[in-house]
Amino acid sequence: MTPTSAVPVIDLRSDTVTRPTEAMRGAMLAAPVGDDVYGEDPTVTELERRVADALGHQAGLYCVTGSLANVIGVRLLVEPGREVLCDVSAHIARAEMGAHAALHGLTMRTYGSERGLLDVDQVAKIIAPDAGPYLVSTAAVAVENTHNFGGGTVQPFDQLAAVARLCRDSGVGYHLDGARLFNASVASGIDIGDYGRLFDTVSVCFSKGLGAPVGSVLVSTAENIARARVLRKRLGAGWRQAGMLAAAALHALDHHVERLAEDHRAARVFADAVAGVLPGAVALDAVQTNIVVVDTGRRAAAEVAQQVAARGVLMAPVGPRRLRAVTHLDVTAEQCDTAGRVVADVLAEALTRP
Ligand SMILES: *Cc1c(COP(=O)(O)O)cnc(C)c1O
Repeated sequence: MTPTSAVPVIDLRSDTVTRPTEAMRGAMLAAPVGDDVYGEDPTVTELERRVADALGHQAGLYCVTGSLANVIGVRLLVEPGREVLCDVSAHIARAEMGAHAALHGLTMRTYGSERGLLDVDQVAKIIAPDAGPYLVSTAAVAVENTHNFGGGTVQPFDQLAAVARLCRDSGVGYHLDGARLFNASVASGIDIGDYGRLFDTVSVCFSKGLGAPVGSVLVSTAENIARARVLRKRLGAGWRQAGMLAAAALHALDHHVERLAEDHRAARVFADAVAGVLPGAVALDAVQTNIVVVDTGRRAAAEVAQQVAARGVLMAPVGPRRLRAVTHLDVTAEQCDTAGRVVADVLAEALTRP
């Protein structure tokens, strides 16, 4: 799909496509390291400590991906044969290749949601903590903030807190897939610790808007993280001198958090550029963070993606008629304006074609 001509590329497929900055590479090169399977990598230990503190938890575990952190985090709360509840478009349900079931023997039950927005009533309707001898019992609820396939949706804090109370009253665990929790925090002004303390387990990603090449951290109680260390090694994902990578995450914490506001502004610029030509194609009030979902109308999203790619704009289909643009460290607001016009032009041309 990448254009072969000399058209400059504006890559809005995901915020995972960023490349480490020179300063980040410098921090990686300079990092003190050791064997992390022996717990001897000081840079990894520092990252785990810092993230756990920031999220209001006792301990952290550095993992190679957000999927791994979610798979381990959910497993800490759910025994095989029990279920985790999540919304119908959750990353854990759609994008983790069935790992929770295939590797850990647990099932998922999903509730509907509008743009991924959490609604305690939807959870309360299906939660089944003690389902008895004939039905599967709920062991955990997992939510996403911001919500990826929902379009970067920031979860309302009162709903997150209401589900926390429901989980506590039901004796059910509560997991946060916080791949983009920093985006939520920057957009809402709510501290990540205030979000983090609502949950039993939280994962956050450094390879998204924060711009590190890889890595996520899972936080929980010290006891849970000791178990998590075993689960990670069992999955073949214990790692050795991972401090060179953890250094990138530490650098991102110091330098790339506040600037997420620029990504949010760039997303709005993109959305405005699309809406300037085709008002119906984006829901402007749904643009809260760094993700914009474009409605391709009667056109197949994959086909529109190909046409905009030929003009140097890369976007990812997230549904049969939905395309996603994600802003990040490696694109400017000006490029987003250009990209928005290209997308709108491609969609408008189709409308005027006889
Ligand atoms: C990206 C992402 C993850 C983790 O993805 P990896 O590619 O496994 O790092 C988890 N949850 C959400 C919502 C994400 O967007």
